[in-house]
Amino acid sequence: MSEILKARNLTKIYSLGGLFSRTKITAVDRISFSIQPAEIFTLAGESGCGKTTTARMILGFEYPTAGELLYEDQNLVELRDKKAWFKKVQAVFQNPFETFNPLRKVEDYFFETIQNFHLDKNERETEELIEEKLQAVGLSLCDIAGKYPGELSGGQLQRASIARSLLTNPSLLIADEPVSMVDASLRMSVVNLFRKMCDSFQVSVIYITHDLATAYYISDRIAIMFRGHIVETGPVDQVLENPKHPYTKLLIESIPQPDPQIPEKAAIQFLEEKEEYLRKGCKFSGRCPEVMEICKQQVPEDTSLDGTVVKCHLYQK
Ligand code: SF4
Repeated sequence: MSEILKARNLTKIYSLGGLFSRTKITAVDRISFSIQPAEIFTLAGESGCGKTTTARMILGFEYPTAGELLYEDQNLVELRDKKAWFKKVQAVFQNPFETFNPLRKVEDYFFETIQNFHLDKNERETEELIEEKLQAVGLSLCDIAGKYPGELSGGQLQRASIARSLLTNPSLLIADEPVSMVDASLRMSVVNLFRKMCDSFQVSVIYITHDLATAYYISDRIAIMFRGHIVETGPVDQVLENPKHPYTKLLIESIPQPDPQIPEKAAIQFLEEKEEYLRKGCKFSGRCPEVMEICKQQVPEDTSLDGTVVKCHLYQK
């Protein structure tokens, strides 16, 4: 089956200090990836790596500075009928309490989505559709009927948000840190829902996170981002069990160990974001334990290696 979405050399450049400022930051730098049908593809990395900007471009909230976003061979950047695109791509955001207006009933969002996308249902069909999507996430209309967001728990509200996003039968769901505001005890049940949605509704998911543990648990493939570049990508078990890029290694080594007897191997050193974005050569050269002279001069090319793609001079011939 062909890809749902292809990003080719997708780029986003911001001017710092106003439109006419000479200082430009390339928040997303010529990244390319594709999304297969019914797969979970994770974009992972620390804050400021470009993963949310990438998601915002896919959602049509940001206009790419360069590059292409192809959906069924149609370049979305040039697409005039944005509504057709929004029907195919839906989003679940980090904080469900910000997704829903506290002064409006949760059910209103469901009816509004059906109306906005002209799903043309009579009253009974509308209720059946809403009930179907709510049941898929472990809720029912009785759970939300007449209720305001503040009357539901964070976990229930995030489930409602996922159910609402499924109303248009999207082919792609973007989940931006969807469990970071959910109680720790409920996180895995919400994370599991994305796997279930993927399998039941054949929807692909772009899962955005800095949490490699949940990424490992639910993803099929992963892309590790650093300062606007995808530095390593491939099947999730290959990338996380046998990381090749020094940044991926450091990310994995810095995961806190639950057992105090096991010392943490590394702590990620944070340098100023802007300083790294403006760095010539490899953006990671300021903190890389394996830095070489060439790294400070040239941005490395992508190298294919054992089913993964790595952007690092260590692997270039
Ligand atoms: Fe480290 Fe050089 Fe590889 Fe960058 S290109 S990650 S600095 S070895």
